[in-house]
Amino acid sequence: MSRIIVVGAGINGVTAAIELRNRSHEVILVDPGPLPHPLAASSDISKAVRAAYGADEDYTALAERSIKLWRQWNEEFGTKLYHEIGVMFVRRSKMGPGHFEHESLKLLGKRGLKVARMDTPELWKRFPAWNPELYRDGVLEVEAGYAESGRAVAKLIERAKSAGVELRERVTFSQLDERGNHVSGIVLDDGQRIAADFVVMAVGAWTPYLLPFTKKFFRATGQPVFHLKPSEPELFAPERFPVFGADITTTGYYGFPINRDGVVKIANHGTGREMSPNSLERVVTSEDEGNLRQFLASTFPALADAPIVYTRVCMYCDTHDGHFWIARDPEREGLVVAAGDSGHGFKFAPVLGEIISDAVEGKDNPLLDKFRWRPEVRAGTATDAARVQFKERRSVGRRGD
Ligand SMILES: Cc1cc2nc3c(=O)[nH]c(=O)nc-3n(C[C@H](O)[C@H](O)[C@H](O)COP(=O)(O)OP(=O)(O)OC[C@H]3O[C@@H](n4cnc5c(N)ncnc54)[C@H](O)[C@@H]3O)c2cc1C
Repeated sequence: MSRIIVVGAGINGVTAAIELRNRSHEVILVDPGPLPHPLAASSDISKAVRAAYGADEDYTALAERSIKLWRQWNEEFGTKLYHEIGVMFVRRSKMGPGHFEHESLKLLGKRGLKVARMDTPELWKRFPAWNPELYRDGVLEVEAGYAESGRAVAKLIERAKSAGVELRERVTFSQLDERGNHVSGIVLDDGQRIAADFVVMAVGAWTPYLLPFTKKFFRATGQPVFHLKPSEPELFAPERFPVFGADITTTGYYGFPINRDGVVKIANHGTGREMSPNSLERVVTSEDEGNLRQFLASTFPALADAPIVYTRVCMYCDTHDGHFWIARDPEREGLVVAAGDSGHGFKFAPVLGEIISDAVEGKDNPLLDKFRWRPEVRAGTATDAARVQFKERRSVGRRGD
């Protein structure tokens, strides 16, 4: 049994803390709070949960497992955190080999998952909010949907406490307590030291700022998120408006059905603006809003003039290849970094704790090779375009559109 400090109580940190505690380690979870932290990427009204990952079978298989566990969590927590209302990725042009949507349809079909091709007028009639002239093709994944991420984190924080995790809220990490190439704990912003056998840094987009030596691996990017109030809410009900990606490899836009507060969330997945998560620039710009209005006018006429009732800049912790970074630091014994979400980690919440704990314990886990410590992967290399999914969008962006 080890004494382990987990820094950061977003989805990476809280699931790791629970799993490490269940493996009989002594676990301290620190976060400035309040929890779920309002600036955390995990604290949101919704995150897409899908197995559609193009041709990448690792993420598809992991998502399949996660979806089964999300259903189980709904039972265990006695409340619906995960809504299985379908996810559709559609295109304005016919899809073909190599396209994210095409490869997803192929792989999901091969794995026996319930999918449909979005290329018939009959099917489109089910989704009246969409401009029927514009979108021609795509994939509908039936057994997928979204998770209420903020609510899920709140439930997991309670579970961590009841599992015996020592939660230290209103506590802020300042730096590692390093002795030579060994990390023996952390130093807090008030100078206090907490000793441990292992330190797990699960601070998401704060990672390159709290661990400056990781700046060459991670880029914190701000992405705009909008909440709109439609005047015809029935058009955006889940059964008529599944989670969507609208030609996402070129537009970047994706969104969610209306929720219990009458809000439709639409956001953009793009190059983003590099900034610290604590930056004052972390606000949606008039350019972001202008781009959104253009998109809505073309794709969802009924939302074109809908009032925006809330906006947020949510932060990705980008890696150069879009894969997660869950690994021991080869130069600092006792340190594990669990970050690099690149905008797609929340759906794996039910399995993240296990993967991070395997990294801490040095256990064999085939996925840890994909998430390994990989300084060889550099910005601007081919991997830039290999951002797991939606690759075309990001690389074009990188070249400065
Ligand atoms: C716009 C957007 C949309 C997304 N959509 C999806 C989606 O549809 N599906 C999906 O699967 N994923 C999605 N993601 C990705 C998902 O949100 C992330 O994978 C996940 O939330 C990352 O969790 P985390 O625990 O690494 O980081 P965070 O949730 O950001 O948590 C980091 C924690 O570190 C704490 N911290 C910061 N500084 C300190 C300090 N000094 N000391 C101690 N603690 C500290 C913070 O308070 C915070 O609680 C999206 C992300 C964004 C930004």
